[in-house]
Amino acid sequence: MSWVTFEVTTGRRAQMVDITERVAEAVERSGVKEGVCHVFVPHTTAGVTINEGADPAVAADIESHLGELVPREAAFEHAEGNSDSHIKTVLVGPSCTAPVRGGRLALGTWQAVFLCDWDGPRTRRVEVGVTAL
Ligand code: ZN
Repeated sequence: MSWVTFEVTTGRRAQMVDITERVAEAVERSGVKEGVCHVFVPHTTAGVTINEGADPAVAADIESHLGELVPREAAFEHAEGNSDSHIKTVLVGPSCTAPVRGGRLALGTWQAVFLCDWDGPRTRRVEVGVTAL
């Protein structure tokens, strides 16, 4: 298995970016027909998740409601001023997996892969690995 790495530049502090096409490209280039696609983000204030990509309002709701759940201004010990970003990253996690069938990323009809930046705008790295089963 080889890893494909690409970068995503975000434009807001809290932003979910649909990276499905780039992940799907990595899957197709891997040549794996049946297997698992691993997506990993090597950051502590950005994560990755799979959720609805058909209606962009869903990502907007997740961004705004996670912002209400974990407010930026609160009593945190971490002095860097981005504890809310670390906590939101714990909630979405640093990785996700999806099936590969017929040489393609086999997401559900409404699913998309999102890079979730909680401390942007920044340039983030995404690593994609595909394992044959
Ligand atoms: Zn920090």
